Amino acid sequence: MSKRLLLLGASGNIGTQALDLLEKDSSYELVGVSVGSNLSFLENFLSSWKQSAITHVYLNGSEEDIARFRSLFPNVFFYRGEKGLGELVKDCPADYVLNAIVGFAGFLPSYVASSLGKTLLLANKESLVVGGALINEQLAAHHQKIIPIDSEHAAFAKCLDAAGGRPIDRFIITCSGGPFYRKTLSELSNVTPEAALSHPTWKMGKKITIDSATLFNKGFELVEAGYLFGIDPSSIEVRVDRRSHVHSAILLKDGTYLADVGPSDMHGPIGYALSLGKGHSGVIETKDLASIPGTDFEPFDAEESPAIQLVLQGYRLGGTALASLNAANEEAVHLFLEKRIPFLSIYEAARLSLSFPIVKEGDPRWGYEALSEADHAARAAIRKRYLEKP
Ligand code: NAD
Ligand code: MG
Repeated sequence: MSKRLLLLGASGNIGTQALDLLEKDSSYELVGVSVGSNLSFLENFLSSWKQSAITHVYLNGSEEDIARFRSLFPNVFFYRGEKGLGELVKDCPADYVLNAIVGFAGFLPSYVASSLGKTLLLANKESLVVGGALINEQLAAHHQKIIPIDSEHAAFAKCLDAAGGRPIDRFIITCSGGPFYRKTLSELSNVTPEAALSHPTWKMGKKITIDSATLFNKGFELVEAGYLFGIDPSSIEVRVDRRSHVHSAILLKDGTYLADVGPSDMHGPIGYALSLGKGHSGVIETKDLASIPGTDFEPFDAEESPAIQLVLQGYRLGGTALASLNAANEEAVHLFLEKRIPFLSIYEAARLSLSFPIVKEGDPRWGYEALSEADHAARAAIRKRYLEKP
C-alpha cells in the first residue's frame, strides 16, 4: 500500500525537487500540498499533477483567492490564514509530512505533525531552531523521530547508522564558507544582495542563501543537530569544505572517521528522507571515487563568527530567545534583499533581538503561543528600528 504524504512548501526549491522524486516514486501518494503566495504555480500544479489524490491544500492568499480555487477544484479542501497550516496538517489524511516551508511559518505544521504522531521529513530547520524543545516532547510522547533533509543532518544520520552504536567522539559539520569566505566584517559593509545571493556550491531559496552568506545558517544547523541527535550544539566541530563534497562526518572514539561524501545535489538527502532512511537508488548521479576531488577540510574558528556566536548565545538563553532571533533575522534578511538596510545590519538586528523579553520553559505562558508572540514582537521591533525615522 502506498504511503500518504503531505508536501509543505511545494513551490519552493526543496519542494519542487521533492516533486521531481515523487513523480517517479509509486510508494507514495501525494494527498496534500501547501504553497506560499505562488498561486500560478499552484493552479498549474493542481491541473497537471498526474495523480488525482490531492484533497487538502493550503495557500497564502486572500478569501477571494480561496473562492476562486474552490470553484476551479471543487473536490479539494482549501485552507489559508495564520492557523491554516496547522489545520491542514490536522485534517489531511497523510501519515507522512515533508516540511519544506521557509522560516517561522514552518514551525506550526511541524509542531502539529509531531503532536499527532505523524512521520516528519524535515527541511524547515527553523522549526527546531525556534521550538526544538516543544517538538522533541511531542516526538518522545509518540516514540517518533524526525527524518532530516538538511544535507549535513542527513549525513549525520547516515554516519550514525554506519557507526552501529560504536562510541562517538564528536560530530563534525561541514560548511562551504559561503560567498564571503575569509572576508573580514569591515570588508562586508557594502556587499549587495546580488553578491550575497551567489552561493559557491548550492542553488537554494533566497532566505537560506543569505543565511549561508552571514553564517546564521551554520549557527541554526548546530542547534538543529542538537535537537535531532541529543547533543550539545557547541560541542560540534565546524570545518570548511569549499566544494561541499563532504556533507558532514563523525569521529568515533576508536579514531575512525565516518563521512558522507557525494555531489552537492539536494535530491540525495530528499531521496534519503523519502526512503525513510533505508537508502534509495537512481536519485543522484553516481560518481567514480577518483572523480571526487580531495578535500582540504580547512579548520574554522566558530568563535570568530558573530552569527554562530549569537545563535549559541540564544540557545543558552533558552525559552523564546531563538524565536526572537530567528524573527529578527528573517525580517532583516528581507530588508537587506529590498536594499533597505546594509548587510551588516542583519547581525545588528539579531544582536538586538537577544535583549527582547524571554518567556522561559516552565513559565505558565510557555508553549506555541509564547513562541508566536515572541516572533511577532521581534518582527515589529526590527521593522520599527530600521524603517521608522526618529
Ligand atoms: P524557498 O524559498 O525556495 O521555498 C519556500 C517554500 O515555502 C515555498 O513553497 C513558499 O511558497 C513557502 N512559503 C514561504 N513563506 C510561506 C508562508 N508564510 N506560509 C506558507 N508557505 C510559505 O526555500 P527553500 O530553499 O526550498 O528552503 C525551504 C526550507 O528548507 C528552509 O527552511 C531551508 O532552510 C531548508 N533547506 C533548504 C535547502 C536548499 O537547498 N534549498 C537545504 C537545506 C535546508
Ligand atoms: Mg544544510
